[in-house]
Amino acid sequence: RAKDSGGNAHFVYEPALHAHAEERRQLEFSLRNALENNEFQLAFQPVVDADTEGVVSFEALLRWNSKEHGSVSPAKFIPLAEDTRLIVPIGEWVLQEACREAVKWPDHVRVAVNASGEQLLDPNFSASVVSALSQSGLSPHRLEIEVTESIFLRDASQAQAALEQVMALGCGIALDDFGTGYSSLGYLRKLRFSTIKVDRSFVQSAATGNIESLAIIRAVVAMADSLDMSTTAEGAETEKEVKLIRELGCRKIQGYFFGRPMPAQDAEALFRNPHYLAKQSAA
Ligand code: C2E
Ligand code: MG
Ligand code: MG
Ligand code: MG
Repeated sequence: RAKDSGGNAHFVYEPALHAHAEERRQLEFSLRNALENNEFQLAFQPVVDADTEGVVSFEALLRWNSKEHGSVSPAKFIPLAEDTRLIVPIGEWVLQEACREAVKWPDHVRVAVNASGEQLLDPNFSASVVSALSQSGLSPHRLEIEVTESIFLRDASQAQAALEQVMALGCGIALDDFGTGYSSLGYLRKLRFSTIKVDRSFVQSAATGNIESLAIIRAVVAMADSLDMSTTAEGAETEKEVKLIRELGCRKIQGYFFGRPMPAQDAEALFRNPHYLAKQSAA
């Protein structure tokens, strides 16, 4: 590209910046039509009980296969959806779809749905949870809403109120990516989270023998236990990591070692798999 500029200094250093803004503009344009073009899908990743290895829940993870851009990473389009507030209608779709799938699973299996701060600040958030539950017939205790600490940065009291409404319905709430953000124990005093999800970075570094990470996971598990909250270790990829997580007393494990995010049909089929059924009855 620098060649095209023909020695014009203006173009020598600006193309990268311009290309970035242009790509973002194009992505945003496509994102605006993605819902009505049916370009979204959910992938479901299993979460297993650390002791029995039985599936206790699935986390619903949004996938965007754009006609113009192909498969776009959530790391790219979720922030864009948040900035444009498109995450509000998209998040409603995710809730509806996740609940519609979860009713097909055995009664003890729950579904976890991620919610952004923008969604919690929307006055209709709890109404959209109610509507997803009633339209699917899913029992509220089978739905868990995952949020990160970042939701407390902007309007903490509004976010807290929204989560309290959801809890009053009987749904669980989980604190996602714990330890990566602006962790303050104050949040844990304000809201009765059902689950704390220990971020993958702690799991990874603990498995390499990092003393600090080990101590932090231990402390989080002890704290969660005494507050009657469950703990999930995120991103376990190796047997070594799984073994360590068990020793540290995390109750649930999520990660590629047990299963990658999979299409809805595969999640449902898992429960008809004889190997899975054998494991469940052994547990
Ligand atoms: P998250 O909620 O922390 O989800 C877990 C992420 O870790 C997922 O990435 C999952 O694929 C990945 N993961 C799980 N196990 C492993 C592992 O063993 N190794 C590695 N390397 N990665 C693992 P994904 O699907 O790319 O999603 C990224 C983030 O995008 C999510 O992080 C969540 O914050 C956000 N997100 C995804 N779907 C939604 C949604 O429907 N709504 C909102 N608001 N955010 C969403
Ligand atoms: Mg999550
Ligand atoms: Mg997470
Ligand atoms: Mg994460």
